[in-house]
Amino acid sequence: MLEISLEPRACECCGGNDLEPVWSNQSIVTRATNTWKFPFNVAVCRTCGFCFASPGPKRDDLARYHADGLAGHKEIGLPYSVDARMAVLERYSAPDGVFAEIGGDQPGEFHRRCSPLFGKQLVVEISEDTPAELRSVHDLPENSVDVLAHYDVLEHVSEVTEFLVACCRALRPGGVMICEVPDLRLYPRNLLLLEFEHVNHFSAATLNAIAEKAGLKLIELGHICSRPYGFLSVFRKEALDVVVPHTGGRCESIDALACVRGGLEQIRRAELQIEIVRQQLAIMGKSGKKVTLWAVTDFLRRLLAGFTLPESVTVVDSDPRRQNHLENDGLRVLEPKNSIEHIKNSELLVICAPRYKAEIIEWIRQQTGKTFSGSELVVLGSGPSGETLT
Ligand SMILES: [Zn+2]
Repeated sequence: MLEISLEPRACECCGGNDLEPVWSNQSIVTRATNTWKFPFNVAVCRTCGFCFASPGPKRDDLARYHADGLAGHKEIGLPYSVDARMAVLERYSAPDGVFAEIGGDQPGEFHRRCSPLFGKQLVVEISEDTPAELRSVHDLPENSVDVLAHYDVLEHVSEVTEFLVACCRALRPGGVMICEVPDLRLYPRNLLLLEFEHVNHFSAATLNAIAEKAGLKLIELGHICSRPYGFLSVFRKEALDVVVPHTGGRCESIDALACVRGGLEQIRRAELQIEIVRQQLAIMGKSGKKVTLWAVTDFLRRLLAGFTLPESVTVVDSDPRRQNHLENDGLRVLEPKNSIEHIKNSELLVICAPRYKAEIIEWIRQQTGKTFSGSELVVLGSGPSGETLT
């Protein structure tokens, strides 16, 4: 197993070092070729309120981890709303211009619908198991891009300022950068703190403060995004007046702490839900009742930690590359299409990938005629009324 090493990070928003550590945890994750131990921390800058991972992952380790990519699995549908992206992009179309997306992992339908809006499209993708000509924002020529977009990328970037300066450099003067990131203000309503790969937890104010220093002026904010729990910021490359350093003040800092504490309360509830499922599995296992656990995710790994699955329980994942991902737990992951009888005869379905709940239930209905609902269905990482928390 490889381990991500950590190093201290200063606040990229105000440059300060007066940080309040709020939470530490770790995740184990299997990527394309290696299993990684990923420790993570959440801290809040007392000066400006920027919330980020410090100590955070070392740059080289993080690059190796991301290069060991396990890209999205196409057959299960797009986990984002193309319509929400198009609604924004149509306002910034440039029929003779260049559109570049950073992190455009298997963009499919999204880029097909973008093509009438722009003369040329480019994709910058660092994951090695996806085809892409451009591997870094630094590969984009200077002053060459009219509209540059990145969706749920910036929360993964350790050197935010450096990244945004490179984005600004690639844009033509007057060019536009469209950015979506998870919204720290919404953490009390979700489980995003468990997303161990996120090294930045932005509010609109802290992202704006960092972008301003990179030469980007905020021109639009939005709260309807292509993925849940994010916010949208649109910036224009233009010469700024004197940039006043962002200090955020006590309110931003106190609010950031409150948002993290709200997120921790959601995690506590999720752990309670996992413990209840363990007890249920143990009882059902004793009488040989069949159960299907669906998707190898962080939720499943948390369920398996220190718990031995009864023999009547099967783990499935529709991505065949995950079949060996639970080797350390002595488990083989099966593909749903090879486990139809087990799924059909299961008295409990535990979905460990809450975002895919609808697709999974529909797939099972089509393949087996059975619809899991009520007490036969548990969705890990969902709230008391079944709402998805990730
Ligand atoms: Zn700060």
